[in-house]
Order: sequence, then structure tokens, then C-alpha cells
Amino acid sequence: MSVTSQTALLKSPSPLIDIGVNLASERFNGKHSEVIDQALAANVTTLIITGTSLESSEAALALCQQFPEQLRCTAGIHPHDASELTAQSPIHLSDLIQQPACVAVGETGLDFNRNFSTPEEQVKAFETQLELAITHQKPLFLHERDAFDRQHQILKSYRDELADAVIHCFTGNQKSLFGYLDLDLYIGITGWVCDERRGTELQALIHNIPHDRLMIETDAPYLLPRNMSPKPKDRSNRPAYLPWVLQKMAQHTGLTELDLAHKTSDNARRFFRLPETCSPNEVIHDPVSDFYRL
Ligand SMILES: [Zn+2]
Repeated sequence: MSVTSQTALLKSPSPLIDIGVNLASERFNGKHSEVIDQALAANVTTLIITGTSLESSEAALALCQQFPEQLRCTAGIHPHDASELTAQSPIHLSDLIQQPACVAVGETGLDFNRNFSTPEEQVKAFETQLELAITHQKPLFLHERDAFDRQHQILKSYRDELADAVIHCFTGNQKSLFGYLDLDLYIGITGWVCDERRGTELQALIHNIPHDRLMIETDAPYLLPRNMSPKPKDRSNRPAYLPWVLQKMAQHTGLTELDLAHKTSDNARRFFRLPETCSPNEVIHDPVSDFYRL
């Protein structure tokens, strides 16, 4: 059975925006068109490509130029890569952030779970990116693992000057959810919610998230939704599988899949300011039809 026929099973009832796709990952090399076509077939119509280092942010921008109708991206340095920050990095990042296809600063934040960079390096890279987000008034795409207290404290001190921010791939507990909501942040839900072992706490919490703060993402190629059946042979997640996350979110929020699709896409459009964003090629479209396509 081909990958396409396996996954043509689930299609979103309304266009979805996948706010976290690591399309610049080498696991998608040579497959970009196929992955985007498959997403469109599942009614996942806009993908926000995550930049996790200077190199991957540049690659994400290049992909946006290649597929200006479907893609936008973030530009930033992931906490794992924080040790790579140099004196030149803020200048370089600032150039990337100002590109029209770049719709957010990040992925940034703190990850004290793995500490691939030291906590001090992570805090420095995080604060550098908070300042860039403030300078350019672009929203923040945030990561956090086992670092809620420190991340919340830092965010709180910058919050008044920041535009919006989203905690992508939220996997925390009630304390961290309520703490982030108190700062009026958005919450990104991935296939973590589909995990019958690790996702039960999130399943029980998700109804607490205000509907105007919810967004949806795959974090592909990671976090293949475990409710997916049959599963693709390569076990690699793709934006086309986002409707499986939508289905599980509907079960735990009490909203219909159609309602959730509308709300998460409205939120993502507002958050990333998608209607106002022209394609990198500056192709001027009818703003009304652009709004619906995005
Ligand atoms: Zn992340």
C-alpha cells in the first residue's frame, strides 16, 4: 500500500493551518513537493515551517520562496542549539526575521530536560530572541521542557513589550498551562494529545484552553499521532496527518472537528498575521481570496 493511499483516510472538514512543521529537516529531503501535495489533499492548506538554527531558518525561508502559496516560516535558535549563538547571530537573525515570509521569531525557549546547551547559554539565546521579537514586533514561537518556572519568570518580565507568543507542542501540567494562559499566550497542540500513555494529562487539561487561544500542529517529522491507523511504514510524521490530531482534540474539548478547524485556523491567521502577509515574490492577490486560501 502506498503512503498516499494509507493516509487519504482522514481529511479535515475545513482548511487547517499546521503551525509547526520541521520541513527543513533532512528527513524531508527530496520530498517537499510530495509532502505539501499530500497535506493539501488532507485539507491542511498552510504550513508554518519551524526554524531551529540560523542554517535551518535560512533553509525554511528558501522553502517559502519555492512554495509561496502554502508556506510561511519562523526564524530562530532552538534551546538545543543555543551554544551556537555568537556575537554575529543577532544581526544575522534580524535579517531573517525581517523577510516577509518569516512570520514569527523562534523556535526559542528553555529545555532543561536534555540540556544539550547549558541553562546559561539557553537563557542568553532566549533573551536575545525576546529582544528581537520586541524590536520587530513579531510573535514568538516558544518551546519549553522542564523549565516552566524560569521560562515563565523571563516571559513575564518581557510580556508587556511583546507581541503575541505561542507555547508550541504544549506537554506541561495544569500549573504551567494556567501560568502561560495568565500571560495571555496561545497554546499549540500536537499529536502528544493522541498518545494514550504520555498524553493523558494533556487530554484532561485541554478543555481549559480558551477557544481563541488554541492552535494545532504536527511538529513533523516528530510525534506521529498514535491514534493513526494504519500507521505509515516509515513512522515519520507529516502535515497531512494533522486531521488525526484534530480528531483527538475534538474528543477532549467537546467541540466538533469543524468548529475546531475554524477556530484554530482563525487563531493562526490572527496570530501570524497571515491575511496581511504578501507572498515573498510580492504577488498581489485579491485580499479576500487570499484570506481564504491562507
Ligand atoms: Zn519544540
